[in-house]
Amino acid sequence: MTVPSGTAGGVTDEEWSAAVEAVRGLTPGDEVQLVCHVNPDGDALGSMLGFALGLRALGVSHLRATFPGEFDVPEPYRALPGVDLLVPPEKAYPAPALVLVFDVAAESRLGDLVALLAAPCVVVLDHHASNTRFGRVNLVDRHAAATSVVADGLLTRLGVPLDREIAECLYVALATDTGSFKFDLTTPAVHELAARLIATGISPGDISRRVFDTRPFGAMKLAGEVLGRAALDPTAAGGKGMVWTYATLDDLKRHGQRPYVLDTLIDPVRSVAEADVAVVVKQTGPAEWAVSLRSKGGVDVSKVAVALGGGGHRLAAGFTGHGNPGDVVVAVRDQLERYLI
Ligand code: 5GP
Ligand code: MN
Repeated sequence: MTVPSGTAGGVTDEEWSAAVEAVRGLTPGDEVQLVCHVNPDGDALGSMLGFALGLRALGVSHLRATFPGEFDVPEPYRALPGVDLLVPPEKAYPAPALVLVFDVAAESRLGDLVALLAAPCVVVLDHHASNTRFGRVNLVDRHAAATSVVADGLLTRLGVPLDREIAECLYVALATDTGSFKFDLTTPAVHELAARLIATGISPGDISRRVFDTRPFGAMKLAGEVLGRAALDPTAAGGKGMVWTYATLDDLKRHGQRPYVLDTLIDPVRSVAEADVAVVVKQTGPAEWAVSLRSKGGVDVSKVAVALGGGGHRLAAGFTGHGNPGDVVVAVRDQLERYLI
C-alpha cells in the first residue's frame, strides 16, 4: 500500500506516526473509546464507525463508539455497518487507554463526554480549519473534504484493507460531507477514494437513496412549512444577500418528527439565487437554537460562527444561538459584513 508522505494537508509524518503508534501500542485488554460530535451527521458517524470496524479487523476487541447528548441516531444512519458498536454516552468506558475523536472541531462539541480527554492518549481526526487541536495527537487536515479522508489515511497506514463494511461507512461520510461530490473540496483524491470504496462492492445507488432520498411524509410537510416562511434580505452581507428561516420544537411536535430531519433544510434554502448567505435557525431548547450557516463564496461563515461561539468551515458553519429566531438572525447579519471574502 502506498502512503503519501510529507506535510500535505497539514498532517505531518510525525503526527501520522504518533497515531499509528498509539494504535499499535495497544495491548489485548486495553479499552478503546471512539467519540464523535453532538448531533452527529454522516461524516461524524461514518468516519467513526468505519474506523472502529478497521480496529476490529486489527484484532482490537474492547471497542465502544458514542456521541454526547440525546442518544438518537438519525434514521438514515441506522443501517450503517458497525452500529452494534454504538453505546449511549453513559455507557462509554470510564477510563479507556485510548480515545479517538472524529469530526470534532472544538471540545465544546463533546458536551459531557469532554472528560474522556483525560485519557492517557487522545487522537483527534478532523478536517475543520477552526480545529483547536485539543488531542495529544492531532490529525487535522483542513483540505480534506471529510473526516473520513483522514480516517482512510490512518487505516491505510495501519495496513487495514478496506472491506465492504468499512467502505460503506466511509462512503456515507464522504458523500454527505461533499454534498454528493458537489462541493469545492471534491478533488481528484476524493474521487480516487470513492473509487476504492466502490470497488469493494458497495452500492452507491442504494446508499444515496437511503441517506439522501428517503424521509417520512411528516418531514416533507414540515419542510414545506419551514421553507414557506423563509425571508430574503437582499441588503445583508454588503448587498450579497441573506436568506433565512427557522423551525421550532412545536413545528417538530406538530409533524411528529425528530430534530435531525431539519438538518437537510439548509440545502433548499442555500439554493436561493438572490442570496449569498443562507441561515437556518433550529430550536433546541426554550430559548436555544442550533444555527446552520452557508455561503456561496462571498462570506467566510466559519469566522462568523466563531465570532458567535461556534465553528466550522469557510462556506459551511454553525453555532448555538440564544433568544428568539429574529435575535439570532440579527446577530448573524451584524457579523456578515466583517467577514466578506
Ligand atoms: P451544520 O450546519 O451542517 O450543522 O454544520 C456545518 C458545519 O459547522 C459542520 O462542519 C459543523 O461541524 C460546524 N458546526 C455546526 N454547529 C456548530 C457549533 O455549534 N459549534 C462548532 N464549533 N461547529 C459547529
Ligand atoms: Mn465533517
